[in-house]
Amino acid sequence: MPITEKHLHVPFVDLQAQYASIKTEVDAAIADVLNRTSFIGGPQVKSFEEEFARYCGVGHCVGVANGTDAIAIALRALGIGAGHEVITAANSFIATSEAITMAGASPVFVDIDPRTCNIDVSRIEEKITAATRAIVPVHLYGQPADMDPIRDIAFRHGLRIVGDAAQAHGALYRQQPIATLADATCYSFYPGKNLGAYGDAGAIVTADADVATRARMIANHGRIAKYDHTMEGVNSRLDGLQAAILRVKLAHLERWTEARRSNAARYTALLQETPVTLPYELPDVRAVYHLYVVRVPAARRDAIQASLKTSGIETGIHYPIALPHLEAYRHLGHAPADFPEALRASGDVLSLPMFPELSGAQADHVVNSLRSCL
Ligand SMILES: *Cc1c(COP(=O)(O)O)cnc(C)c1O
Repeated sequence: MPITEKHLHVPFVDLQAQYASIKTEVDAAIADVLNRTSFIGGPQVKSFEEEFARYCGVGHCVGVANGTDAIAIALRALGIGAGHEVITAANSFIATSEAITMAGASPVFVDIDPRTCNIDVSRIEEKITAATRAIVPVHLYGQPADMDPIRDIAFRHGLRIVGDAAQAHGALYRQQPIATLADATCYSFYPGKNLGAYGDAGAIVTADADVATRARMIANHGRIAKYDHTMEGVNSRLDGLQAAILRVKLAHLERWTEARRSNAARYTALLQETPVTLPYELPDVRAVYHLYVVRVPAARRDAIQASLKTSGIETGIHYPIALPHLEAYRHLGHAPADFPEALRASGDVLSLPMFPELSGAQADHVVNSLRSCL
């Protein structure tokens, strides 16, 4: 019996389909690391760092253990820590603000632009105090943050910029790789990210050789050579197996990004003239669609999600509680009215299945099911 659309399963991401498409290459790369026993550091890590720095359009890449550490280490490498405030967006994964706290600084939240769900650049300056040292724009969902005004504000107030690009590998802003527009940019290679390892991994990329050197020291117990610790750091290293896998996958990333973008374009074309609000791209950017996030009537979101589930379609919510309203930040004493746009987004965003291998039939099934429950 043919699989009818009614029975089509659409996972939220499909890591198995991707592994199947590159299995021979990945298995050979893993075998190579096992044969050399180069488990920490080694040639695969060095080569990946060089290749990823080039991909990001900057001179330096420091591989670390995960994307959260990448942000914390980048901030420390820029001299940011205790007594300092760091501005970031009210809508993100907690890792962004958690990393600011890990560095010893305090996160200060700014409401979001309702069109992109990224930081509202017109509300940054009102949050700057004498203690502010940096801005951490998040390129959420793979949509570049509005970097020109952010750079202008940072320049005028003497602030550093550390980009959270955990969801934005390959994104461009006005034709520039986003990593060229910040003091340091941080990536996560968590398996589900656009460039995903087969475990935890992350990286800091920067054009500044001194920042790279300091980040490398902090990530490796504060040392350069074996026992010359000039300060305390942390243990946050990229391992050889992950680097070898990432090298294989980096060679496919542009193709996968184009597939994500064409899946997004298909959704956007087919969801015109429905009550859902579709993703908005700033002018002249290349968004990389880690997530395809629509906004639905808040009162009906749970019912829509449940109905899609019944049709075999898995969806997500990114994120159901805005960062300032999480229990973890109760001590900051924020009221719901402080971040009206982030609050609204947390109630009505819905992430549709998005991954490079999503088939036309799967995308059509998502669209038809969504249309029929609206
Ligand atoms: C995934 C993610 C991180 C953290 O990355 P990990 O590798 O899981 O530590 C940080 N910020 C954002 C926006 C993310 O999506």
